[in-house]
Amino acid sequence: MSKKLRKGSSCPTCKKAKLVPLIFGLPGMDLMAQEGRGEIVLGGWVSSEFPPELECLGCSAQFYRQSELVIFNER
Ligand SMILES: [Zn+2]
Repeated sequence: MSKKLRKGSSCPTCKKAKLVPLIFGLPGMDLMAQEGRGEIVLGGWVSSEFPPELECLGCSAQFYRQSELVIFNER
């Protein structure tokens, strides 16, 4: 299943929570503050070649970008 999604879209899995950008790498204070406000999710170190770009704040489903589409990957 694929669908066009972007940050702020509502999650197609649980249909209630919001999708936020998933940020990898070592976060600075700014990013930690943003995570505290629920604006982003910190993903730690990248563990795959194609890391997911968005994560649902409610059900933690993750979404990958593939050209124009964001592919959704249910846990
Ligand atoms: Zn969700």
